[in-house]
Amino acid sequence: MRLQDCTTNSATLALEILKKNNEKLNNIVTFVEPTIKGEGKLNNVPVVLKDNVNTKGILTTASCKILDNYVPVYNATIVDKIEKAGGQIIAKASMDELAMGGTNLTALTGPVKNPYDLNRISGGSSGGSAVAVASGAVPFAIGSDTGDSVRKPASFNGIVGVKPTYGRISRYGIIPYSSSLDHVGYFCTNVKDAATLLEVLAGRDDNDMTSSFEEVKEYSKELNSDIKGKKILVFSNVIEAISNKDVIESFNNLIEGLKKKGAIVENVSFDEKLMRAILPTYYIIANAEATANHSNLTGLLFGERLEGSSIDEIMIKSRSEGFGPWIKKRFVIGSYALKEDNQERVFRKAQKIRRLIVEDVMKKLSDADGLIAPAATGGAPLINSTSTNQMSDEYLVADNHMVIGNFTGCPSITLPMGYTEGLPIGVNLTCNPFKEQTMFDISFAIEEITGLADKVKEDF
Ligand code: GLN
Repeated sequence: MRLQDCTTNSATLALEILKKNNEKLNNIVTFVEPTIKGEGKLNNVPVVLKDNVNTKGILTTASCKILDNYVPVYNATIVDKIEKAGGQIIAKASMDELAMGGTNLTALTGPVKNPYDLNRISGGSSGGSAVAVASGAVPFAIGSDTGDSVRKPASFNGIVGVKPTYGRISRYGIIPYSSSLDHVGYFCTNVKDAATLLEVLAGRDDNDMTSSFEEVKEYSKELNSDIKGKKILVFSNVIEAISNKDVIESFNNLIEGLKKKGAIVENVSFDEKLMRAILPTYYIIANAEATANHSNLTGLLFGERLEGSSIDEIMIKSRSEGFGPWIKKRFVIGSYALKEDNQERVFRKAQKIRRLIVEDVMKKLSDADGLIAPAATGGAPLINSTSTNQMSDEYLVADNHMVIGNFTGCPSITLPMGYTEGLPIGVNLTCNPFKEQTMFDISFAIEEITGLADKVKEDF
């Protein structure tokens, strides 16, 4: 579904479809009656929000038990922006608990199903939002991306997933995960819509001190698929680690297409030792920041409060009951990394390694227009064979390379690239900070090559 196809009854219709689909997909936490609050680029557009976006007067659970009764008293900045532009919010979507996960199996309301195969995961943590777009119910849904939580589910569901530059979209009112890595992102079905949506969402917000003053361009008007002379780097470490033949074949075809359009394509290898360090470095930083950010989830100020005879007992009981096992495990890791004796040895060291990775990547990327690689090693895994234990320190660069977009803050997009055994596979493109126009232009060319704009799966 495209933005431009929306008409006056689209929101009502979309709500009906979403409700019906939810019986099979299990991707929605709360349905919302559509209301028109403004007029602009999103006129008549039904919108789904990830359930970590604060909505005034509307339940916002982040798919976490401790927040299962939390009704915010204010809107996130992006909610006001969407509504001012004419968008109509019709649902809050399921996610991995507190956005900590990549499967959507950890949501309080249970697993979200992939519309291409109901036995498969949607991917996460923005799985509910991804599936709302991929199933053709809405043209646009909000997600958040701390490690790849928009770009990975986009790949598993055959749609476009955008994570702009750090600071490009205000995070005010988004329940945080890891402040130095969190980005607001979004899903849609084509590059033109992706460009238009950034015009609506981006911009300085005084309520978010990390938001940028950088001018917001008319990306959709300037969209241009002429990529002659654009230098695109192929991420060799990732390609070498992928064994799925369909992924490699679709990727190679795409690269041929880019060359035919006049792009200069070069292979690039990053330091192997640093690539191996991506995942452990990410987990230390993300879990440490999450532990600090979520120290306010005590049951005292808001959310589920359990009975106790002292404040300590209330907090201990509420926190013990209020979080899933995988979250507690992450808090243990985070607390360990932040403990006074360990801070230098663990947390600061992870920050230093992050810096080395960023320097290595930026040295090469800043001399080019983009870095490209498959967004996943294959199609969406089966629900039954997927583990929620993601604490592995194996060499998984092929599955985790998109974290680089969060380490660097660079804009990064996933687009559909092809299929493997009927399941969608995506390609990921990362560009230089605030070069979203370049990112959309190259993406526009990619879309022409693959012919995979506006692919949704309505029958499942
Ligand atoms: N899967 C990663 C994690 O569990 C990324 C999550 C995200 O981007 N929110 O931390």
